[in-house]
Amino acid sequence: MSAPIARRPTICEINLDNLAENFRASRQFIGPEYKYMAIVKADAYGHGAVECSNRLEAEGVDWFGVAIPEEGVELRRAGIRAPILCLGSFWHGQETIVIDNDLTPVVFDIEKAASLSHAAAARGQTVDIHVKIDTGMGRVGVRHDEAARFAKHLTTFGNLNVTGLMTHFAVADDPRQDEFTVTQMARFDEALAAFHDVAYRLEIIDLANSPGAISHPQSRGNLVRLGGALYGLLDDILPPGAEGPNLKPVASLRSRIAYLKNVPKGDDLGYGRTFTTKRDSQIALVPVGYADGYARGLSNKASALVNEQIVPVVGRVSMDWTLLDVTDLDHVRVDDQVTLIGSDGANEITAADLARQLGTIGYEVTCCISARVPRVFTGL
Ligand SMILES: *Cc1c(COP(=O)(O)O)cnc(C)c1O
Repeated sequence: MSAPIARRPTICEINLDNLAENFRASRQFIGPEYKYMAIVKADAYGHGAVECSNRLEAEGVDWFGVAIPEEGVELRRAGIRAPILCLGSFWHGQETIVIDNDLTPVVFDIEKAASLSHAAAARGQTVDIHVKIDTGMGRVGVRHDEAARFAKHLTTFGNLNVTGLMTHFAVADDPRQDEFTVTQMARFDEALAAFHDVAYRLEIIDLANSPGAISHPQSRGNLVRLGGALYGLLDDILPPGAEGPNLKPVASLRSRIAYLKNVPKGDDLGYGRTFTTKRDSQIALVPVGYADGYARGLSNKASALVNEQIVPVVGRVSMDWTLLDVTDLDHVRVDDQVTLIGSDGANEITAADLARQLGTIGYEVTCCISARVPRVFTGL
């Protein structure tokens, strides 16, 4: 452990052993014959990209996936040696950053291909790229019906080496729409044939995100791209009751009671006076707010855990403070631990629980835990 630093007690605990176990459980469920890419974009969904990647590289992850080259550079500076795919391609001006940091960009437009090839030629090098096919996500990627033309066009760039072909699923997590996932796979197969026709020797064929890799065995290609599964965000990946690996949450958001106050019946609490005490109450002030990523939308909705018990958030969540009604607890004291996400005793609040109250998914909840909240790692 590092020396204790005096600080506000609001922290995000990251359990790297759970991260590693989630990787092993996923690999066991999906199969050892595939390569594994850990998706660590957006600071590993808020979990800390460098620490998570270091651990996962030691656990045998084959590739890392980031959204933007800046994130890839951060991993290289931290000593990550495994190949890194930039899922969102790169921006003009970043060609040399991609080349010099040995990043593999995803490419899906000809201008980017041209500028990258040009930059590689100027260095007397060849750059590996992966091509993304839009098979129905309707977002980034070469439209599947233009894949053959794109493949031919790419052959005119002498300093690019297409080493991977990929696509991304829109509804792999929704069994009611499995037919569309099957359609996406069929479109991908056609695009793959077109790339083989122009004689690209593709080493990496990948379609599947976490729900694809777990629920659609035919989508596994020879590499799967896992994000949510590694962070244990199970509820966002699988429908209730679906078969999958046993996953554990990795992130917990905790704080401590800073002040306790006794408030008589009939007093209003917080901005907007949205909560009025219905009895003489004891209110705990917790130093966490929407600036920490504890969303304002949780006002008067969410619960937290204090002394292993569930207590309600009352009044508006403000930028830096959240109020809990702890009237029903017996021996509550200043400095008692508050769990906003995570487990305490037999009770647990998951990112998905908060997400449901906010009308979003757990991914957004963990991504939004802000930089003001120190990540404290166990299993480092
Ligand atoms: C974010 C992302 C993933 C990871 O998705 P999960 O559902 O978190 O597994 C995979 N592939 C691409 C292209 C992505 O952008």
